[in-house]
Amino acid sequence: MSLRRIGWFALLAAIVLLAVLPVPEFWITQLNFIGIATLAVLGLVLLTGVGGLTSFGQAAFVGIGAYTSAYLTVNMGLSPWLTLLIGLGLTAASALVLGWITLRMSGHYLPLATLGWGLSLYYLMGNLDALGKYDGILNIPGLSLFGWNIGQGRVFFLITATLVLMGALSLNYLLDSRAGRAIRALKTGSQMAEAMGVNTLRFKIGIFLLAALLASLSGWLYAHYQRAVNPSPFGLQIGIEYLFMAVLGGVGHVWGALAGVAITKLLADQLQVLLPSLIGTSGSYETIVFGVLLVLVLKYAPDGIWAFIDRKLPRAPRAVDWDSAPALPERAKPATGELVLDVQAVRKEFGGLVAVNDISFQIRAGQIVGLIGPNGAGKSTTFNLITGVLDLTRGAVSFRGQPIGGLSSRAIAALGVARTFQHVKMIPDMTVLENVALGAHTRGHKGALAAMARLDRAEEQTLFKEAQRQLERIGMGPHLHEMAGNLAMGPQRLLEIARALCTDPALLLLDEPAAGLRHKEKKALVEVLRQLQREGMSILLVEHDMDLVMEVCDRLVVMEFGTRLMEGTPRQVQQSPEVRAAYLGTEH
Ligand code: ADP
Ligand code: MG
Repeated sequence: MSLRRIGWFALLAAIVLLAVLPVPEFWITQLNFIGIATLAVLGLVLLTGVGGLTSFGQAAFVGIGAYTSAYLTVNMGLSPWLTLLIGLGLTAASALVLGWITLRMSGHYLPLATLGWGLSLYYLMGNLDALGKYDGILNIPGLSLFGWNIGQGRVFFLITATLVLMGALSLNYLLDSRAGRAIRALKTGSQMAEAMGVNTLRFKIGIFLLAALLASLSGWLYAHYQRAVNPSPFGLQIGIEYLFMAVLGGVGHVWGALAGVAITKLLADQLQVLLPSLIGTSGSYETIVFGVLLVLVLKYAPDGIWAFIDRKLPRAPRAVDWDSAPALPERAKPATGELVLDVQAVRKEFGGLVAVNDISFQIRAGQIVGLIGPNGAGKSTTFNLITGVLDLTRGAVSFRGQPIGGLSSRAIAALGVARTFQHVKMIPDMTVLENVALGAHTRGHKGALAAMARLDRAEEQTLFKEAQRQLERIGMGPHLHEMAGNLAMGPQRLLEIARALCTDPALLLLDEPAAGLRHKEKKALVEVLRQLQREGMSILLVEHDMDLVMEVCDRLVVMEFGTRLMEGTPRQVQQSPEVRAAYLGTEH
């Protein structure tokens, strides 16, 4: 039995024991509040910890769940089970609107918008007569099922514990899936994820929605357990406290939510007793202690407390269960010699700087074309124009006869244009295999819900099989289960190529793939490029290693200061006095 499984059984046993042993009622109550808050913090672990999106509005969504159910059960006599659904619906609608507006804009809008959202909802709750103003709503019915009171004590504890366990388990399942890899890519690099065909906006809105729904569920439990609501537990300060709990526990770890909430709650209780006796006056000084604690945690344990525990846990490599999985279907590739890429007088101006000055060239199927030139010549910018990362100032690009200028980088990737980045972009805390599987994103279809219910395993096997195949093809077989962040520079670049190959491209753009590679790795890279060429792949290569360029390229385009200096065979380029003067002369 694996340690993970033993952990689960121990946890389940502890929950059952707590429920049946004569534990003082005070502790059961305490545990119930911990469970309720953990659900809301679980959402933040996903949103902020994993997704890198900071929200101060989590408490406001808890408030929507709590107030919806409180109002409708007390004033309209509806069943709490029905009002749970209504609360979730209202939460979803407001989260979608808020997310849709703010997540399209750059990073800082979400924190700001959720600040405003938290504040305005708090004042709304406190000023509406119908919601009882700052006194709130009293006499909320407890939960019952077929007349059986389940809203108190140990039975309620079993319910919250089950919900927390299910929440944690399904989030863990989600993070280990096609959707999960896309979510884990949001924090470090949306640009890379988009280049792999991931709709990052959709995943951002998705995790914002999921986090809000968990908060709403938490609010529903709170309202019917406390039997009374008022605005204070849903204010901005509590929104910040939820963030504190998530950061303290461990932003990237699902179990960190539970650890963060438990430690904060228990500490707050102790401090409320201890501080007044130390200082001699009463007052909410624990807020100050928490502030100091947060600074210390951010400085000395930025990954939170759970990260220490997680590091100690033995990590078994992923069991390889996909050997007999079927191969993924591949797109129809262009016939050798067919025009694949047609770059027509593309231009990019950054203010007054002309980074790319009316550059034109073509690539035919099975060709390797090199784009060379001194640093700052505009090679990477040309890449970004072709792949849709940057907008064209002027000019046109066609891929397999279809104009792609103006398309998003995601759409261009989906058509079969794959790329690597000059500055390696990967997710350091995912394994090499998982990083490469991200490349196969558009070749799978299972979404977040299927992942949370673990109904995506058959498809996952096909994706991992493809990722392994591409890694082995490029000599990375021995590194499958290593953390990508632990790789040396050379293997990191090979990882990027394998990830690009996983998208099933018809055109491959490699930006300085040999930079940082050792001699042996370069030799292997040349072999891989040759083999790809034999299979009919078209490649655009930016590279400073002239021996490698001269060895593998069919044609070369030489750039200098954004302008095309010449185009020709490697031989012609080598013999050109202009190129020698402008470029090779400085290199050799
Ligand atoms: P290369 O890849 O050939 O070394 P780049 O394409 O990275 O060159 O850069 C070409 C020129 O454009 C450089 O002068 C660079 O400073 C400038 N440049 C690149 N990206 C930007 C940007 N986002 N904003 C402004 N200038 C840029
Ligand atoms: Mg560059």
